[in-house]
Amino acid sequence: MKLHEYQSKELLERFSVPVPRGQVATDAATARKIAEELGGKCVVKAQVLMGGRGKAGGVKLFDNADAAAQFAGELIGKRLVSIQNPQGMVVEKVLVGELVDIAEEYYLSVLLDRAEQRLVVMISKEGGMDIEEVAHTKPGAIVRLHVDPAWGLADYEVRDAVASANIPGPARRQMVTMIKALVKAYLESDADLVEINPVAWTPDGKLIAADAKVSIDDNALYRRSEYEATKDDSAEDPLEAEAARRGIAYVKLDGDIGIIGNGAGLVMCSMDEVKAAGGRPANFLDVGGGAQAERVKSCVELVLQDKAVKGLLINIFGGITRGDEVAKGILEAFSTLDVNIPVVARVEGTAAEEALALLEGTKIVGASTMQDAAAKVVSLAYA
Ligand code: GDP
Ligand code: MN
Repeated sequence: MKLHEYQSKELLERFSVPVPRGQVATDAATARKIAEELGGKCVVKAQVLMGGRGKAGGVKLFDNADAAAQFAGELIGKRLVSIQNPQGMVVEKVLVGELVDIAEEYYLSVLLDRAEQRLVVMISKEGGMDIEEVAHTKPGAIVRLHVDPAWGLADYEVRDAVASANIPGPARRQMVTMIKALVKAYLESDADLVEINPVAWTPDGKLIAADAKVSIDDNALYRRSEYEATKDDSAEDPLEAEAARRGIAYVKLDGDIGIIGNGAGLVMCSMDEVKAAGGRPANFLDVGGGAQAERVKSCVELVLQDKAVKGLLINIFGGITRGDEVAKGILEAFSTLDVNIPVVARVEGTAAEEALALLEGTKIVGASTMQDAAAKVVSLAYA
């Protein structure tokens, strides 16, 4: 779950990472009050979970509270569109922060390096811009420091890494402290990403997190109840947010063949088959084990909310999940929704015969194998 910048800064502050003062506002009047408390000089930043807010016009610097409040008023309710997120996101909150005087911008992040099976700290002197671009154009400008899971980080290793990233001498000591604090924050907060871009180096020699991005491991959310309230808006896609509310494992993709199956492996396999048959999957959806009719109905509804979907493939291998329960769910969904796209169902295993009997004579096309189902849905959808 991605946290907003203001939440990320609050979290990092608890680990003694220097962050600018500031507060969130949901209306212009509150924004003005915060700006006044900061003495008028401030930065107003859209709190949306997407990168490139600066370029998208979501970050602006001010020297008086009136102008800051006016901009905050314009920003709230507006849809911001960036290169990273072309469909855009509506701004609901803004962060009004202390204006940091920036001499140089650096980059720091902590994430899991799966190949190395350990955490990696990424350090770069080239901060402020998109790190993917730095990785592409100046790969040598990013220094990677792996964290030993048993020993953690030794000070000398961090000092070496900071030096080899060419961070200027006067900033190094604070950078070392910041890196150690970020690793501690990552581990103790169940994070799966901590990123500061830019780490600001001020003319009076202070290192401070001008931006912050923390993501919490979804599997740890049960013990991170403080994020419950903002969980829904953490999804970048409205359908994924709806799926999160319904407790459905759903990932939006950019194709047009909706896919529902039971078990992540079977769903991925179905996606492969759809691709092989010349189609493009619109989503990943795992109904989960032992799904009842009501849940299947909810899943079908969700997938059909995606207006890009031109055909639906339902692939069930009955084990704990009973085929007839799935069939009932599909039929219930169809009785309440106005479905005018082709639907192909392949049901195998427990209660498959009962399922096929239920689907017999309906608009749902049956299929005997996964390949057959994929071929049918693709040819019907693209007909
Ligand atoms: P992002 O574009 O979504 O990553 O948003 P950032 O918070 O990183 O802001 C984009 C850019 O705005 C930064 O790279 C800075 O150059 C600038 N910026 C943000 N906050 C401040 C600030 O307090 N002072 C100054 N001078 N610039 C800032
Ligand atoms: Mn940034």
